[in-house]
Amino acid sequence: MIQGSTELVAIVGSPIAQVKSPENFNRWFVDQQQNVAMIAIDLAPTALDAFVQTLRGWHNLRGCVVTVPYKQQLAGSLDSVSERSTALRSINVIRREADGRLVGDIVDGEGFLNAARKHGFNPQHKQALVIGTGGVGSAIAYALCQAGVSRLVISDISHERVEALGKLLRSAFPAIAISAGPTSLAPFDLVVNASPVGMGATRDEGPMPLPEALMATLNASTLVADVVTSPAVTPFLAFARRLGCPIQTGPEMALAQLGNLGHFMGVTPLEI
Ligand code: NAD
Repeated sequence: MIQGSTELVAIVGSPIAQVKSPENFNRWFVDQQQNVAMIAIDLAPTALDAFVQTLRGWHNLRGCVVTVPYKQQLAGSLDSVSERSTALRSINVIRREADGRLVGDIVDGEGFLNAARKHGFNPQHKQALVIGTGGVGSAIAYALCQAGVSRLVISDISHERVEALGKLLRSAFPAIAISAGPTSLAPFDLVVNASPVGMGATRDEGPMPLPEALMATLNASTLVADVVTSPAVTPFLAFARRLGCPIQTGPEMALAQLGNLGHFMGVTPLEI
């Protein structure tokens, strides 16, 4: 029950009905008997500036998770953001300090890595392929570089996006071999689909982000991951599973990120 004394966190985006964070966080708050609740806000773009001002003056609000389409726009409206948010020009969580200052970070990449580590994947000195260089793909690519991969290959249907992310990563991580591609999947320890391809697929044989001939070069020891949350097992993951690869789903990544989001807002420990 939300009471007068309940502290709030929020998630903002548009549309918002599909997000799973409110039920995941609220279940945790109830289980842990915390007097905190998460609300979901479907915000019109015209109200964004007023929303930021409202966050500053909202005394019983601890923070706000940010989702599509406001991750980039809000990154430029806060009082300070993390180094990775500055580099990626994107946030997915805001903390409201006691004096009303708003601080932002992007923890999509950390969530992804938490889930991958649960599969026994240690990024150090590994070779990784990230398909899709939008908001989530960029955050995953950045986190993989920070965690010490030796080689990163990025791919996207948008040549400009690959160029821009490659430039950013090469300048932030000069020791890592970063290129566009790939021509074979055999060398990779990790292959991630961070594009929306496969979203809403109802059959195992639906669309995949790579041609089937390239998919057939996958090594059975490669961890194959997808960020798409619905269906949990996309045609891409189903294909990899048929080849014998270990797979990691989008819902696993979303769940593994809860602690990062909650800890940043000051309402949960890092590991929940
Ligand atoms: P985005 O629009 O910022 O980026 C998507 C990128 O994919 C674009 O650069 C686009 O050009 C590229 N792309 C599209 N089709 C492609 C193809 N066939 N091959 C290669 N690249 C292709 O979107 P985003 O915010 O990065 O979200 C991507 C996906 O991640 C969505 O499906 C979203 O629902 C999901 N998501 C999952 C989680 C999670 O925790 N699992 C969190 C956030 C978002």
